[in-house]
Amino acid sequence: TVVYLNHAPKGQIGPLLLSGSTMGTTYHLKVFVPPESKLNTDEISKQVSASLDKIDRLMSTYKEDSEVSRFNALPSNQWLPISEPTYHVINAAVRYSAMSDGAFDITVGKLVNLWGFGPTINVNAIPDAKNIDRLRNKIGYTKLQMRPDPMEILKESDAIYIDLSAIAKGYAVDAVAAVLEQNALHNYMVEIGGEIRTSGHKQTGQPWSIGIESPVTDQRSVQKVLHLQQSAMATSGDYRNYFEHNGQRFSHTIDPRTGYPITHKLASVTVLAETCMDADALATLLTVLGPESGMEFAEKNNLAVFMIIKTNDGFTEKSSTSFTPFLKQ
Ligand code: ADP
Repeated sequence: TVVYLNHAPKGQIGPLLLSGSTMGTTYHLKVFVPPESKLNTDEISKQVSASLDKIDRLMSTYKEDSEVSRFNALPSNQWLPISEPTYHVINAAVRYSAMSDGAFDITVGKLVNLWGFGPTINVNAIPDAKNIDRLRNKIGYTKLQMRPDPMEILKESDAIYIDLSAIAKGYAVDAVAAVLEQNALHNYMVEIGGEIRTSGHKQTGQPWSIGIESPVTDQRSVQKVLHLQQSAMATSGDYRNYFEHNGQRFSHTIDPRTGYPITHKLASVTVLAETCMDADALATLLTVLGPESGMEFAEKNNLAVFMIIKTNDGFTEKSSTSFTPFLKQ
């Protein structure tokens, strides 16, 4: 992890800015440090990057010696003791799988890899239907067992390969927010790869302004600006990570129930939640469910959700009841 530190010149009030790279993406922090604060900013930046490095070392599937990779390499029916953070994230993921009847499922790793979106070489080709079916029948969150004391996990099938890409970044955002809180910093914006958490207000006393990206691939533009105080926000979409074959777009989000990438008209889903881990997982969960079932799920669970849906001549927006206050800002 590389950290670039850039804070206001002596005597001037300005946010503390930290940025770097982690988990195959970038992160940015904006922290409002009170002028009277005697904060050691180098120390904060060290704590932030140590926290991110730790999560990456535990949960990355791109690192062969991470805890998750060690589990993935293990044969079936062997208990593996795991750390509290990894247990916590897997436990939350399994809860979301159960809530969505398997639309969200971290055991899809081998399918993600088969479609070329994992750490293996990206082939940009359509896998064989027989291979997809064979694999689909051997995976699933119900084949993952967990026990809490001591914390251990086990897979009932060799095909189980955990992929935390849809939840770990959100968890990392929460972990960084906790580091800031421990240092008595309560006004901040933390962002890792587009997943965000805000607290308090910015320098001017105003809430944080956070943009939801327009779902277009060739440029970066803002579709909607939200004014957030105490909140976490995550967005999933098929407009960045995908491949095209014969004019058809294949998303990196796989529907575990079919084994194929999702094909509906949902271009992007944004979820607001208390923690970024929840927002992150829910954004992927709703992406798999699609615009209709996804919005039903959002209403049933009182989620604040904003969707951008493809139409024949552009995009249309749809939001849940709990999101309404954010439209009126
Ligand atoms: P991003 O990584 O672009 O932020 P997401 O947070 O939506 O995207 O996570 C997508 C990633 O999650 C995929 O690249 C894949 O590794 C994994 N994944 C794909 N399908 C599912 C699924 N049904 N449930 C859980 N994770 C998934």
